[in-house]
Amino acid sequence: MSCNPQSLLWQRRNKQEVLRYQSARLHRYLRDVVVPFSAYYRELFHRHGLRADSIRSVEDLEQIPFTCKADLVNTPEHPQRSREYVLIPDQQTLARRPSTLWRALTRGSARVRAELEREYRPIFMTSTTGRSADPIPFLYTNHDLDVLAEAGRRVMQICDARSDFRLMNLFPFAPHLAFWLTHYASTAYGVFTLGTGGGKVLGTDGNLRLMQKIKPDVLIGMPTFLYHLLQCAVEEGLRFDGLKRLVLGGEKAAEGIRRKLRNLAAKLGSPNVDVVATYGFTEAKMAWAECPFPVDESPSGYHLYPDLGIMEVVDPKTGIVVPEGEPGELVFTPLEARGSVALRYRTGDIIEGGLVYHACPHCGRTLPRLVGKISRTSEIKSMQLDKIKGTLVDFNQLEHVLDDAPNIGGWQLEIRKFNDDPMELDELILHVHGLHGVSEERVARELNNRFLERTEIRPNRIVFHGIEELRRMLGVGTLLKEQKVVDRRPKGLGGEAPPAPAQAPQAPEVQISAPATSTASSSAAPDELEEQP
Ligand SMILES: [Zn+2]
Repeated sequence: MSCNPQSLLWQRRNKQEVLRYQSARLHRYLRDVVVPFSAYYRELFHRHGLRADSIRSVEDLEQIPFTCKADLVNTPEHPQRSREYVLIPDQQTLARRPSTLWRALTRGSARVRAELEREYRPIFMTSTTGRSADPIPFLYTNHDLDVLAEAGRRVMQICDARSDFRLMNLFPFAPHLAFWLTHYASTAYGVFTLGTGGGKVLGTDGNLRLMQKIKPDVLIGMPTFLYHLLQCAVEEGLRFDGLKRLVLGGEKAAEGIRRKLRNLAAKLGSPNVDVVATYGFTEAKMAWAECPFPVDESPSGYHLYPDLGIMEVVDPKTGIVVPEGEPGELVFTPLEARGSVALRYRTGDIIEGGLVYHACPHCGRTLPRLVGKISRTSEIKSMQLDKIKGTLVDFNQLEHVLDDAPNIGGWQLEIRKFNDDPMELDELILHVHGLHGVSEERVARELNNRFLERTEIRPNRIVFHGIEELRRMLGVGTLLKEQKVVDRRPKGLGGEAPPAPAQAPQAPEVQISAPATSTASSSAAPDELEEQP
């Protein structure tokens, strides 16, 4: 892999050095890898009159049109859309390159063939978990798995994991980034990790039994599942006094859920546990982490790897890059990806505190960081709450209100049509499980007040459920994304389509043959040597 794990770049460089490195790397990546070998971007560049040589700095990125989720989905007109994003090297182009020729001369053509296979042949995939859209497959080559392992190793480093820690990977066992990133991260970091597959494979009891045997220092999983597991452990009177970190991923982590997790860990005998969150997405093929921070302070954000990708923050309406530290939508461009590649991928995720470059107040690393809450534009839904006009309701905000509410455990928001009549108004039903033996009347009153204080709407009804019933409704431990917001309106009225079954795409055939060494010219400068830091 050409990214050097020992490279100082990813840990300690100032903003100018980072941008200079990224600019040079971006230019070479587009020129040598993406534009020659990606059917989609070759056509897109051609259509927009762009050449790889016209993109020479991070600022120049703005010339490249965004790629959105909708661009990646297969449609009847483009049934093979997702395959157009897969890099398929042209053997003649590769064979003519001075770098290939140089390598063939110095290392032998069989070795070069094997290296190019490693770099370009897809051998692995993960896919998106979207409930409302077809899952989008993202293919990995061996080179991508090296990058995934390196990104994972850095997550461990940022989270301050020690090699004598014992980890439990509680993400659902599925072709999704979270489980596999954790798997490769622990292998690369060299730390004992047991992947249980979450609740679906072993059930809550199975997970708790293994926890008693393993006595983990670190639990990694989705916040709702960790909450459920620790809650069950408390109910059963179990004791886990060695917990040092709870690492959250796969969904948003509100401050309230962190506090609840810390409280549960304290009841289990681990009062000093650090709760840190990660952020990642399928299209990036990596995730980023927070470093541990004092309980009475705020997290310092997700630490990025500037040598592996470029994160832009743009105004979601105009698409223009916003100044440092300003809120906006996250847009990602990889610098090392092979297999499936999306440039300037619009995540639909809004970062409240933007992208910053100054040294982290907690760990001191001078890495670019994404600061503040992340919310999803897809979770802003239009609701018909009165006869006059539709209201935009930000469910991100409602989630924070509910996760922060002290006297409830789990919750679910349900949107439906009044009396299930498609012509009627929408109604919002809040399902909750009360905690601490507080009366339902009081919990309902508190929740209504919280809604009124922080949002402009309030639930039409609050329904109380037993903990088991609510867990079943949420799909805790069984679904890949817990159903915290359920839209039961008929389709076409804002309701969601039912989940589509995951389709495994066929890995594209990548033909790589050895370059013709007889035409090699040793005077040509091998451009790969320029890459070495
Ligand atoms: Zn830090």
